[in-house]
Amino acid sequence: MKDEFEFIDKITPKIKRQANLIVGIGDDAAIYSPTVLKNQVVCVDTMVEGIHFRKNTLTSYQIGRKALAINISDLAAMGATPKFFLVSIAISDKWNEQELEQIYAGMNDLADKYDMDLIGGDTVSSNESLVISVTAIGEVYSDTQLLRSHAQHGDVVFLTGEVGHSAAGLHVLNEKGINGPFTKDEQVWVLAHQEPEPQIKAGQILANLGERFALNDISDGLASEANELAEASQVSILLDESQIPLDSLKIAVDKTQALKWALFGGEDFQLIGSCSEQVFKKVQPLFQNENIHVTRIGTVQDGPVGVELTSDSKREKLEKRGYNHFFK
Ligand code: ADP
Ligand code: MG
Repeated sequence: MKDEFEFIDKITPKIKRQANLIVGIGDDAAIYSPTVLKNQVVCVDTMVEGIHFRKNTLTSYQIGRKALAINISDLAAMGATPKFFLVSIAISDKWNEQELEQIYAGMNDLADKYDMDLIGGDTVSSNESLVISVTAIGEVYSDTQLLRSHAQHGDVVFLTGEVGHSAAGLHVLNEKGINGPFTKDEQVWVLAHQEPEPQIKAGQILANLGERFALNDISDGLASEANELAEASQVSILLDESQIPLDSLKIAVDKTQALKWALFGGEDFQLIGSCSEQVFKKVQPLFQNENIHVTRIGTVQDGPVGVELTSDSKREKLEKRGYNHFFK
């Protein structure tokens, strides 16, 4: 690659997926017109080589895909419809042209799935590590607010999908390397780590109901995210250990390990939320129609702000901890 300009040329999309995009890549900034009656939802997340990923756990394609996926997951937790994204990338000379193209190929595949346009970014050089920062823009109807602060006493606490797979996948990748070989179960977990699926559909179903929901995406582990809901809403959350879906993890590892991954492993990008008992009854069939697994895992109870975990034998405070603490 000759220079930055040739690089930008290569990654400039040839097609436009969003009709309200007016000016994309190529000028000083992008222009789009917001949809009438909708609010704009914006988020940014950064991944640093050696801290958030390494070449021996993710391919270049997966690095790009994941950098966008973590942002789409934040949009999902707001019930938003994804629209646009921007990419700021700091590149060291350890990365070749083909790898950089693969990073953008990974982003483009996910962008295609969610009809997003790449509308800008920045390209700089770095000494050692690759740093990739993605900004995502989505929209929600202006009366929709799926906020962390919306949990109320008496609510059902629910979870989409299963958690812990990504942490299990990272564990397997660290043990066996990126080329495996992996068992069937391990393949599922490794893919959950490398190519997570943000829960856009689930977020939109909740947003479309027009009811009060508290919602948060699980990037730092169930324990951490449940605590964030509790703190933002100033409520006490009681999680029932026996209700946390661990089925596929328990087949292969002992229950304690499965539970640790589920509670403290990060990057599952499922959604945890709460709503009234009545509204939850409406949610279940709607999720079922879309093949989205949803489990009632707890309740919002009387008590001090925080999270408790109960099992047959005990009831204890569930600290935030999360990914970093657990895997240090
Ligand atoms: P400026 O000097 O005005 O910031 P640049 O030369 O940095 O312009 O960028 C030119 C165009 O390319 C802009 O539209 C910018 O948003 C886009 N762009 C630059 N780097 C990237 C990148 N890594 N990914 C996507 N778009 C990019
Ligand atoms: Mg620039």
